[in-house]
Amino acid sequence: MRLSDLNIPRKWQTAYLCYQERTERIFAFYSAWLILTTLLAYLFSRELRGAPSPELWSMASLIRAPAYFSVIITLLAHYTGVPNWRPKVFLRMMSLSLMFSILGLFLIYAKYWPEALSQVSEGLMISFFGVTLLATRGTRDWVIQFLTPLILFVFVAVLVEVPLISLTPFLFGPSVMLLIGLVVSEIMRRLGKHQFLSEQEMKELATTDQLTGLLNRHAFLPMVRHAISRARREKRERFCLIIGDLDHFKTVNDTYGHDFGDLVLRETAVRLGASLRQQDAVCRWGGEEFLILLPATDLDGAMEVARKILAAMSDTPVQCKDAERCQEISVQQTISLGLACFTEEDSPESLIARADQGLYEAKAAGRNRVRSIPASRGLEAGSSLG
Ligand code: GH3
Ligand code: MG
Ligand code: MG
Repeated sequence: MRLSDLNIPRKWQTAYLCYQERTERIFAFYSAWLILTTLLAYLFSRELRGAPSPELWSMASLIRAPAYFSVIITLLAHYTGVPNWRPKVFLRMMSLSLMFSILGLFLIYAKYWPEALSQVSEGLMISFFGVTLLATRGTRDWVIQFLTPLILFVFVAVLVEVPLISLTPFLFGPSVMLLIGLVVSEIMRRLGKHQFLSEQEMKELATTDQLTGLLNRHAFLPMVRHAISRARREKRERFCLIIGDLDHFKTVNDTYGHDFGDLVLRETAVRLGASLRQQDAVCRWGGEEFLILLPATDLDGAMEVARKILAAMSDTPVQCKDAERCQEISVQQTISLGLACFTEEDSPESLIARADQGLYEAKAAGRNRVRSIPASRGLEAGSSLG
């Protein structure tokens, strides 16, 4: 994965926005404390710093007010949840008010007290560094948070007749920091994106079956548990499970080879997906076994889905399209299904065991069919999967 070329795939874009907000929330919180302590440190250390007596004290304090305000609002939102704005708003508010304060102060000193300008120049550099931390979205943030106030600064300087050329020696350091800010904020954005993509890939690897692209057992079981706790909480919520097992799949493997067997498994995954709604979930439970979760579905609905799956499998043969490798094999692959719908007493294990029993009966009855097992019926000993 190259750092310069990180596009977020469509399927992860919503997750990326959440990740970005999470990161921004952290930056906003720590930056708010950082800015607040720095502002207070500057406020109470005038003598320590050997700053000359501030004739413009009240004006300087007034000009710092928006920075205090934005920082306090950000901390308030963090601790109380009010105002409930997006973290990006707090970052923008803090950076713009910080820029406004320091650039305003710089102009006032330049106009009325040029001999003390070097003091503000130092403050300018420190503020620019602070704004860099707030520009988490890279170049775009840099333009909004640095460049826009700076253009305004130049405009006002011309308006109040401060000769910009005389400010050059004091602006050299801050200008370097401005460029460092651009690079650092862009690096932060790219590193954030890189970390997000790596995390998503790891997550996908841990929850996906590599052959079929379906969820794996580890990702699926928590979904069943979640469906159960939801159904217990909301009494009217119903859901069902279907377990499917390919018929005589060993013969397919033995006759046409493992590669063709793999192709049948992949094609099964596609057909299952096409037979389900978006809110349904399907996983590869084992070798040639699939488990399907049907939320908000009663027995009749689940039976209909099962019939759809049986037809999707048996109606069209699975064909190998690579004529060279498998010489136009065409196999009528069927599947057997067991079905169980949730009742109050069910645990994930008991529900899966009932669906499993249904599958066992579907196989025993001749395959390519579905059997459902109601909760009222005790499970027979010795049931097995296919
Ligand atoms: P039944 O109708 O009773 O289910 O018969 P079956 O032949 O499907 O059942 P059995 O459990 O005997 O065979 C399952 C086969 O699935 C055996 C195994 O080689 C095959 N299998 C399991 N995982 C994979 C896989 O990832 N790829 C391929 N190609 N075959 C697999
Ligand atoms: Mg089988
Ligand atoms: Mg099996």
